Amino acid sequence: MSGTNRLFHFAAVTARKLHLWPIIARSGIYNRARRRKYPDSIVHLDVVLTECCSLRCRDCSNLMQYYHNPANLDVNEIIRSLQILLAAVRVNQLKILGGEPFVCQKQLIRLLEYLREEADQRIGEIDIITNGTIVPSDECIMALKENPKLKVVFSNYGELSNKLSEFADICKREHIRYEVIEDKFWWDFGKPVLRDEKEGKTQHRYDGCYSRRLCTTLYRGRLYVCPRQAHALNLGFIPDCDDETVNIMNPEFAESEALYDAVYGIVDRKKYITACRYCGSDSGIKVERAIQSERPSDVS
Ligand code: SF4
Repeated sequence: MSGTNRLFHFAAVTARKLHLWPIIARSGIYNRARRRKYPDSIVHLDVVLTECCSLRCRDCSNLMQYYHNPANLDVNEIIRSLQILLAAVRVNQLKILGGEPFVCQKQLIRLLEYLREEADQRIGEIDIITNGTIVPSDECIMALKENPKLKVVFSNYGELSNKLSEFADICKREHIRYEVIEDKFWWDFGKPVLRDEKEGKTQHRYDGCYSRRLCTTLYRGRLYVCPRQAHALNLGFIPDCDDETVNIMNPEFAESEALYDAVYGIVDRKKYITACRYCGSDSGIKVERAIQSERPSDVS
């Protein structure tokens, strides 16, 4: 990691420890500072590896609880999209997430191999976000170990994260970087249903949204403003609006310059997206983190 990158990283970790991170992220200061330093880069990219999860959290803001038939995604398609995307922009921080990425370790190993061998120069850091319920295989541990840019980020859900200590001990022993996030509560984003509200309120929600600044999402060959939009669309909860996503596979983006413009159209987008009308990210309601539900949730 370069000196400047280390400084940005230190600032982000400190802000998180002081619980100031959501405020800083919402303000956009951090993203603007990084963009000034790295103008050809997007700051964050969330890469969805799977819809499957080892937990079923009732209040998951990414809507994983609504999947009746969740699937592991095609890793070759993910790599193909990344190849096209990374030809157009660099990524400062790439996050691999699900669901729970360690439910599909073969795909994860293949993705890590690609990131280490082919994409190394185009990516600053790699985080894998896990709920600490699975201890990876030896082969997977080796793949983690072989990528020095990589960090395992544990979301600690107390008793539910019953493999966290064991996995963290392995990380220590194998010199794999890791971090434990200890969020005490979640914000309730509510069900993905259309809110009857004035446009100004939707715009205000979008303007202050933490996800839209930190969670540009790559999912099934398309780039989204946030993961909630990606899954709400895939689950059929919101109508598809072409100008609110980028289809990476579209032949018109064979030219990297055209894709660069389209990607920044998403990252710098000023007008709210349709998904924001189905989202309560600004509800201000705190909920206990990771409450488990028995079966897939329903919007009604
Ligand atoms: S749908 Fe809109 S308000 Fe909700 S998380 Fe995404 S960008 Fe933010």
